[in-house]
Amino acid sequence: MSAPSSEANLRLVAPRAEPVPVVFDSPHSGKAYPADFGSIAPMAVLRRSEDAFVDELYSAAPDHGAPLIAAEFPRIYIDPNRDLVDLDPAMLDGPWAEPVVPSRKTELGVGLIWRLMPPDAQIYDRLLSVAEVQRRIDTCWRPYHAAVAGAIDDAHGRFGEVWHINCHSMPAMGNSGTEDGPVARAEFVLGDRDGTTCDPAFTAFVADQLRDLGYQVKLNEPYKGVELVRRYSDPAKGRHSLQVEINRKLYMDEERIERNGGFSTLKANMDRLIAAICAYARDRA
Ligand SMILES: [Zn+2]
Repeated sequence: MSAPSSEANLRLVAPRAEPVPVVFDSPHSGKAYPADFGSIAPMAVLRRSEDAFVDELYSAAPDHGAPLIAAEFPRIYIDPNRDLVDLDPAMLDGPWAEPVVPSRKTELGVGLIWRLMPPDAQIYDRLLSVAEVQRRIDTCWRPYHAAVAGAIDDAHGRFGEVWHINCHSMPAMGNSGTEDGPVARAEFVLGDRDGTTCDPAFTAFVADQLRDLGYQVKLNEPYKGVELVRRYSDPAKGRHSLQVEINRKLYMDEERIERNGGFSTLKANMDRLIAAICAYARDRA
């Protein structure tokens, strides 16, 4: 069922029910810190970057006919939700042969290879070798993208349309190192890059489901969606991608990285949301 592919640093859990054209991916819940990471930051600081337990919150997806892909590597080692060009060459010990186009994320220290844990914790006291960054790309970023692209293409080929849910969680508060600053965040933030990565009716459908479950929902603020929804979406061709950010206060103690008393309620509601999304896709494909 689960096809653990440890050499590929990811898990791909195949559908356990009649397939539907929905793909869930959790790029930031990995916590297998590689031995060659070479970070100076304490583990407690590094782990604040994880979207902890998000893979578990979506673990019912295969029971509703959708594959679930989850990274095992931590996003602070290499971030699969960034483009390969979103890199700061000043972090490297030699010339980078590929193009670089650093975005605002790299400026904030959280590009493809994170420099900082926001707001200001340094991750390295050294330059990274070109070879080690290339290795992170080849062993983590590429296999993850191949799995997501493969599952989306597969569903699109079979059904003619596909709905991709890119699954994340966010700290309850921003800080001086985040784009939104030190403000409290909504319970859920849906990102469709301002209506460009999926049919707006689908975004509205998911927002309505969450509001019916009692949650406060914002659209594209402060998170619009980044590389995974950008790269694989093409709504005009029936490829819909939506980023879902869950506020961590709903399910975890952010300091201790432990489930809190809200976890089981949220998990039950996520099961309902997954069922509703899968039914939506089944009805339309
Ligand atoms: Zn995330």
